[in-house]
Amino acid sequence: MTRLEKFVGGMIGAAVGDATGRPFEGSASVTKEEIEKMISSSSVLTVTDDTLMSLDVARSIVEKGKVDPDDLIEKFVLSYDPARGYGITTTLVLEKVKNGADWREVTRKVAEGGSWGNGAAMRVLPVGLFFCDDMTALFEAAEQSSIVTHFHPLAVEGAKLQAKAVALAAITDFSEFDRFDFLNSLVEGLNSEAYVEKLKKIEEFLKHGASKKEVVSQLGNGGEALNSVPTAIYTFLANAGDFRATILQAVSLGGDADTIASMSGGIAGTLLGIHKIPEEWTKKLEMREEIEKVAKDLFFSHVRKVLGERCEICLSEEAVEVCKLDEEAGNEVSNFILLCRTCRREMEREKEEFFAKPRKYGKYRAIYRKAHKRK
Ligand SMILES: [Mg+2]
Ligand SMILES: [Zn+2]
Repeated sequence: MTRLEKFVGGMIGAAVGDATGRPFEGSASVTKEEIEKMISSSSVLTVTDDTLMSLDVARSIVEKGKVDPDDLIEKFVLSYDPARGYGITTTLVLEKVKNGADWREVTRKVAEGGSWGNGAAMRVLPVGLFFCDDMTALFEAAEQSSIVTHFHPLAVEGAKLQAKAVALAAITDFSEFDRFDFLNSLVEGLNSEAYVEKLKKIEEFLKHGASKKEVVSQLGNGGEALNSVPTAIYTFLANAGDFRATILQAVSLGGDADTIASMSGGIAGTLLGIHKIPEEWTKKLEMREEIEKVAKDLFFSHVRKVLGERCEICLSEEAVEVCKLDEEAGNEVSNFILLCRTCRREMEREKEEFFAKPRKYGKYRAIYRKAHKRK
């Protein structure tokens, strides 16, 4: 499966989870039949703040090539829509920033030591995708994306954990996926004992099974990052390989259902890719086209990041674009090339000749890649 399918799968998967959980947010518990009935009787699956803010995170990364907290908060304020079920912290911060306050001050004061809610983890998916090849950069970026609204270490750690789960899902081929290996990789690099304890509990639940009651009482279904990020990871791992089952279990837990399902759906969608998400769900998804477009833009920015910032032929840094010369080729990162406008035009002209001699292209590319690295 290509990385593009994983990026689109992650963004759409998270939005499907968000929209499926929305009608059940705050409920004590729901049956899977009730959830399926809601989906089949709805003409539109409406998304909430989780999706709106994730889209902004992705758009900001596309524009800036990194996580830029000032740009992020500006985008959050601009797209703020009180009807979308924002959490208390985020509402407070966005209202104050909108009225001229500096997020650096507000985010520390919004609760004792900052908020520990899941509002940063629920929107961190694009960070996990974009930085999937570099865990150090990933943690730094997850933190930067978190602190504009959620400053407490437990909120930041939750965002890092969710981002890492997404990143691992992006770099893991499903044929090689093992849920216990996945869980062990997640524990590495975690600073917080509280989260490590939760991940140990997940391992126990995966080995011996757990009732809905046990999952809710021991992992949690609340709006705190510590009581929802591990739960989302558990529902992903317990149903890994089955997107539908992942969402149904996540929503059935009730509580902060939209966010838990959005986080687990984001990880599952990334691991499985867009084609494993039920079409009868995606076709009803509000903003589907926009989400797909943003996911693709994020992927192209990611390709740029992987390939560098120079034209791979002439090494110019100006007007560089991500191009795919062979339209028939798959969407693996390796099938894309960075070209400046001049070289792109040249290539377009030579295209026919190029495809007649595919080896020439490969040679070309290898030579210039080497030159690029030397520079
Ligand atoms: Mg929500
Ligand atoms: Zn060039």
